[in-house]
Amino acid sequence: MARRRRKMAKAAAAAPPIERKQITCAFCNGEGKDPFGIPSILSTCQVCLGSGKVWVEPPTITCAFCGGSGVYLDKRLTCTVCRGKGVVTKPKGAKTCPDCLGSGMSPDGLPDLLCRGKGVIAG
Ligand SMILES: [Zn+2]
Ligand SMILES: [Zn+2]
Ligand SMILES: [Zn+2]
Repeated sequence: MARRRRKMAKAAAAAPPIERKQITCAFCNGEGKDPFGIPSILSTCQVCLGSGKVWVEPPTITCAFCGGSGVYLDKRLTCTVCRGKGVVTKPKGAKTCPDCLGSGMSPDGLPDLLCRGKGVIAG
């Protein structure tokens, strides 16, 4: 009598897969190249690694700190809040951050500590 194999039996387990969607890379505008030509004009965009697309976890909101540009102010660096994607995952029950009033920025020009630069906090 052969033993029955039940390899696939537990495939449909409880945990739902993380939903992700692909958007155009904000940092390079989908070009796949470093927008500032750093270190050279042929450099690959460090955010999307040259594909022009990045994966995000919906629901997303525009990054308050960089305004969706993916760029850290005038510093030619990727925004530390959204990592250059231009959007961030919206916290559950999001409400406007009382600390920065939604700007995502603290008075010293750094990402606000309370909302971490998102401009919203979990409700
Ligand atoms: Zn890119
Ligand atoms: Zn940002
Ligand atoms: Zn804030």
